[in-house]
Amino acid sequence: MDIAPYVPGRSTTDDGRTVAKLSSNENPLGTSPAARAAFASAADSLERYPDASGAIVREAIAARLGLDPARIIYGNGSDEILHLAAGAFAGPGDEVIFVRYGFAVYEIAARRVGATPVIAPDRDYATDVDSILACVSERTRVVYVANPNNPTGTFAPRAEIARLHAALPPTVLLVLDQAYAEYLADEDDDGGLELAATARNVLVTRTFSKIHGLAAERIGWGYAHADIVQALHRIRLPFNITIGGQRAAVAAIEDRAFVAHTRAHNAAWRAWFADEIARLGNAGLRAIPSEANFVLVVFEGALTAETAYKGLMDAGYIVRWLPGQGLAQGLRITIGTEAETRGVAAALRALVERGT
Ligand code: PMP
Repeated sequence: MDIAPYVPGRSTTDDGRTVAKLSSNENPLGTSPAARAAFASAADSLERYPDASGAIVREAIAARLGLDPARIIYGNGSDEILHLAAGAFAGPGDEVIFVRYGFAVYEIAARRVGATPVIAPDRDYATDVDSILACVSERTRVVYVANPNNPTGTFAPRAEIARLHAALPPTVLLVLDQAYAEYLADEDDDGGLELAATARNVLVTRTFSKIHGLAAERIGWGYAHADIVQALHRIRLPFNITIGGQRAAVAAIEDRAFVAHTRAHNAAWRAWFADEIARLGNAGLRAIPSEANFVLVVFEGALTAETAYKGLMDAGYIVRWLPGQGLAQGLRITIGTEAETRGVAAALRALVERGT
């Protein structure tokens, strides 16, 4: 099968050092202490299979966000749910649409089931609804939209998502990937959960890997019409989320203070970092406006993204360079701790100054 593998963010430099791993959009503040304790409590039941119905996770999410627990699907990260969506709704001869500079898993998920990926051009790195709609054909089965988008950080407002949904044929599943939604002041700012509550063809996906700081435990979830959720349940692995992950996720979603603290930290340092890029003056670096926990910096001057990637690596800052996704001109940099964010900005400044 002709599938290019997913390449995870690196965690060490070529010579084995890391000052800061800013390549996988993890939570630089760690994990809620309550979630750590809940995870540890699972050690007394390791001989038992986990609850295959994910009941405690569904109940906690439903209570927190006012959702129907019966319409919640869970997965080994939201990655699994993105794969399940393609598996349940697309197959050979079908088409799956996503934007250029979209999340790498969409293409893998489409190809894995024999469907054809169709790439919709962006509008200066942002999701363009008209461009997506122009790609729709009678073979379209799934449209993936990450909002905020990874790796660009851009956000499509509620009216645009509503317009996209209204114009799509009802036979097309719209997957709204809200992996970074909790970084917005209003988590459901694009109206995805509201749409999923009423529409028959919308699946919203979320994750515990980002703001909740539980990337290691691989817990993602989705919300959709009961028919969609049943279709996904039919093809998932029976025990796809672990007992430690389930307990940690419940504690994490209930720790509102940790989430609020992470959101505020991210908003403050993301703004600082974008300003810092602007303060580099006319060096040709541009921070794409981001609503997520990372910033895409585009290099349009003498310093190339490749040179900057290597220079930052030498300085111990591991960021994401994505030439394989047609993004050779940009670096995606996760917002880290204060020290990491100041450090990577200073390292970038030094590279710019050295090159001019
Ligand atoms: N969607 C997007 C847009 C992402 O950036 C990521 C993480 N890189 C995921 C989904 C998957 O995250 P996880 O499987 O850890 O839930």
